[in-house]
Amino acid sequence: VVIEAQGPAAAIGRFGKRLRAEAPPLAAIHEIASVLLPPAPGEGFVIDASRPQAGATTAVPPDVALCAGCRREVRDPADRRFGYPFTNCTNCGPRWTIIESLPYDRPRTSMAAFTMCAACRAEYEDPGDRRFHAQPNACPACGPRAWLCGEDGLGRVDDRPLAAAAEALAKGLIVAVRGLGGFHLAVRADDDEAVARLRRRKHRAAKPLAVMVADVAAARAVADVTPGEEAVLNSPAAPIVLLAIRIRAPRSRLPWRRATAASA
Ligand SMILES: [Zn+2]
Ligand SMILES: [Zn+2]
Repeated sequence: VVIEAQGPAAAIGRFGKRLRAEAPPLAAIHEIASVLLPPAPGEGFVIDASRPQAGATTAVPPDVALCAGCRREVRDPADRRFGYPFTNCTNCGPRWTIIESLPYDRPRTSMAAFTMCAACRAEYEDPGDRRFHAQPNACPACGPRAWLCGEDGLGRVDDRPLAAAAEALAKGLIVAVRGLGGFHLAVRADDDEAVARLRRRKHRAAKPLAVMVADVAAARAVADVTPGEEAVLNSPAAPIVLLAIRIRAPRSRLPWRRATAASA
């Protein structure tokens, strides 16, 4: 990132300090190098268009798990993003999997096909907003939508895709969730018959499957979670974490069944 800042020396000095101290959650400042430039005309705050440079080595940003702010909005019936599965902001959301080329700007992502509505555009252009220059910014009015297909993979079988998928899971069916990076096969972890069916179809007789839980409190019901593991689970990367098993699934007999289940 190249920043051109001008003003009294003391203000520029404060800016340099705050740049590190108040960087947004996902910022990773490896190094700051500064040079003095002659004063130039212009005022206000502007983000210039990215200029691709030959030989530029910009790291491709990773996908980031839903942040607390977006989680609140998705759960708030009064919010315009209530229940919207593609909610994101500058603190969270897809990056790696939607980028087609660098530098990372919306026209070079799979979000190029979606034109922001007036409300999203206003957020995108407001330096005080959490979604200022959030490239995949979207809402139910302008962004991608979820739908549910039947077993043939065709057509929309229900107009409440998330609720219907949850009902299917509850019934013991396998649901293929097309996520950011491909298909994610999900099944009830506490349904031995359903898990066995998934294992048969996946030809994964014994390899552990990741268990999805709603939060760390739910994870504690099935596994021991150390403070370090909790921090990693709640981190922006939100990786799959190997935990020490705490309970034995009631109807399981085989050792690998006890320690596993759920998703692939
Ligand atoms: Zn967010
Ligand atoms: Zn929108």
